[in-house]
Amino acid sequence: MTERATVAIVKGKAPIDATRIEDMVKRAVALTGGFVDKIKTGDHVVIKPNLFAPYPPPVSVDRRVIAAVVRLAFEAGAGRVSVIEGVSMGTLMKRVNPARSAQTASRGYSTIEVMKMLGVKKAVEEAGGEVIGVEEAETVETDIEGSIALHRVSYPRVVLDADYFINMPAMKTHGMTMVTLSIKNLQGLLDTRSRYFSHRDDLDQHMVDINKIRKPDMVILDGLIGMEGLGAGESGTPVEMGVIMAGSDPVALDSVASMCMGIDNPLLVGTTRIANHDGLGIGNPFLIDVVGNSIDEVKQKFQLPINYTQPIESLVTGVYPNIDLYIGGACPTCWLMTAMFEAMLAKVPERVSLIVGVDPKVPPRLKTDLEHTFFLGECALATTGDLRDLRNEMQLKGIDRFLGGCPPYEQALVKLEDFMIGKGYLDEQDLIKKAEEQRKKFFEYYQSRDVTWEPEL
Ligand code: SF4
Repeated sequence: MTERATVAIVKGKAPIDATRIEDMVKRAVALTGGFVDKIKTGDHVVIKPNLFAPYPPPVSVDRRVIAAVVRLAFEAGAGRVSVIEGVSMGTLMKRVNPARSAQTASRGYSTIEVMKMLGVKKAVEEAGGEVIGVEEAETVETDIEGSIALHRVSYPRVVLDADYFINMPAMKTHGMTMVTLSIKNLQGLLDTRSRYFSHRDDLDQHMVDINKIRKPDMVILDGLIGMEGLGAGESGTPVEMGVIMAGSDPVALDSVASMCMGIDNPLLVGTTRIANHDGLGIGNPFLIDVVGNSIDEVKQKFQLPINYTQPIESLVTGVYPNIDLYIGGACPTCWLMTAMFEAMLAKVPERVSLIVGVDPKVPPRLKTDLEHTFFLGECALATTGDLRDLRNEMQLKGIDRFLGGCPPYEQALVKLEDFMIGKGYLDEQDLIKKAEEQRKKFFEYYQSRDVTWEPEL
């Protein structure tokens, strides 16, 4: 008989307060067989929630959902419950944090600082658990069996040694993976170096490979408030969903969750399709039993990130009058990053040349001067022929417009921002103000749904 998976959906009734959340989590877990006989007396249970950045839900998982799971694990007999996370690589907050240091430059805050700000640390500790930041966790160099793109990583020992492992994603869209659910969530367990490289064009496969290290025993998804638009961070928009989902098959859960987000063919999501192919679970909706509420009862059409609704070329080529783009053989991720970098370079009053990819052909003479010629990504920095001569000339003249990285990511964005600030094209105070306004927007939104929440700033 063909194997089948089960996914539970529990829709809550307003007002969704802490008591209701506790009941929803209990019901969702019970519908998938519960923790009894799975978590044994004295077990060490490890939970990995999505705490993306120092912003409350929907950017991060609700502390009340995490605390409810911690309590449930203890009720089932756990002897120790640890909550581990590594915050995202970059947010607008990086320029707000006055204690910005070399270690946290791209993030702005450490994981434990984010857990404190969001009230997660307090909620977990009050429930009897402990919190761990990936930065401080003991790691083991781990070979990934059956890997395709990511073969060896530093992985937290506490997860490898866990008796029972719970993955707790949020329900969000994502500019690089369409959605971020359970498969994507485990990326937060890696160190910055491994995560950085994962953001190349083979990001989906990297995410699936990470899930081959330690498959979760249970996935509990916080879909109380979802996120649509340009997720998964501060640029996304909240969506009232009011659901908790659970299941022991992460691929099935992602498949059902993306259908709840209005993606009728869940195999359009790369992480779900590849995880299904690689045998991590069942992505085919016809082989998944949905219990509790039905998909139709909770489904909403989430607005997908703009690069999933229109051709990426329409965001990159021929968009800004002052930018001449020379792009060739670049990965999809570099195309996406080009769109972001162009949006910033559009503020430069002079004509700008932007060179991206593998040996793009450039005319003998660029229309711009060297001061306004930018190389984006490692491939552009390794180009040969005329472009190498051009780079050498820039090096000799001390003109550093080299925005490196594979993919060019947060560090390259910070470098360009610094250049723009230095030239007076951007105002650092404006950037800080924008980040604070975004933060305020999310804080006020979440506080209107949870009046008991007091951010620890
Ligand atoms: S630098 Fe090159 S390999 Fe890396 S993401 Fe860009 S185009 Fe792809």
